[in-house]
Amino acid sequence: MSDLERAIGALHEAKSVVAATGAGMSKESGIPTFRDALDGLWARYNPEELATREGFRSDPWRVWGWYNYRRRLIAATSPHAGHDALAQLEELVPDITVVTQNIDGMHRRAGSKRVLELHGNIHRFKCFDQDHPVDDMEIPLVEQDGSLEPPRCTRCGSYVRPDVVWFGEMLPQGVFEEAESLARTCDVMLVVGTSGLVYPAAALPFTASGGGATVIEVNTEPSEITRTADVFIQGPAGRVLPEMVSGLNEARS
Ligand code: NAD
Repeated sequence: MSDLERAIGALHEAKSVVAATGAGMSKESGIPTFRDALDGLWARYNPEELATREGFRSDPWRVWGWYNYRRRLIAATSPHAGHDALAQLEELVPDITVVTQNIDGMHRRAGSKRVLELHGNIHRFKCFDQDHPVDDMEIPLVEQDGSLEPPRCTRCGSYVRPDVVWFGEMLPQGVFEEAESLARTCDVMLVVGTSGLVYPAAALPFTASGGGATVIEVNTEPSEITRTADVFIQGPAGRVLPEMVSGLNEARS
């Protein structure tokens, strides 16, 4: 039996599935991973300088410049066949939740309904000092004169920032706890496109495995998760996930 057939068999039997996705999931949409994103204009910065509270405090203009560059990039892309396949899985297994480290909103755009965003969403904003949600202003994608004066919160006057989780910050209240509880009780965890280096998200496959789930990994390269995975399918999400869905459709007919 091939690895793909074993994965399809496990999904066919599963009552509850968690799909845990990382930056590699969106790569075929043209959204670079962190490392890839820091090319060209941004090559001389490291994520710790940009995606931290300290980085924002010392230069909010620069951090906004970087996020606007990424917002433009994401706005110009679309979900690919792998995102679509995960959305289709909702019709094929009794219960599935996508737990993503990605901030790009692609899973919802592809039609997945149950999505937990561990690291927030680049299309949502809050204020820097008090975490006031900011939904009462349009934040332009393109800066005028090449620079954006960071917007200010209308409630407290502090700078507005993207509602994403930066290095050293806590995950949004309750979201990780919900993901962990699903990981503990799921029958299958499908891990796609993550290096398994960023915690606590990287702990979820180990939690699932400890709870008796079959862990299926899809990645173009072996990762920190591979040694825990029951099934490792090496290949791009945009090819492997549609193959899984069509195999599952066949198994059900
Ligand atoms: P990572 O960049 O550390 O690792 C990416 C993984 O994806 C690698 O293991 C790589 O081998 C694999 N990969 C690359 N192309 C693939 C493909 N086509 N199909 C399947 N796998 C592929 O990503 P991470 O583990 O998610 O950690 C990076 C952090 O950066 C996350 O916390 C995330 O929040 C953030 N981030 C998010 C985005 C996004 O929202 N799209 C983009 C960049 C970074």
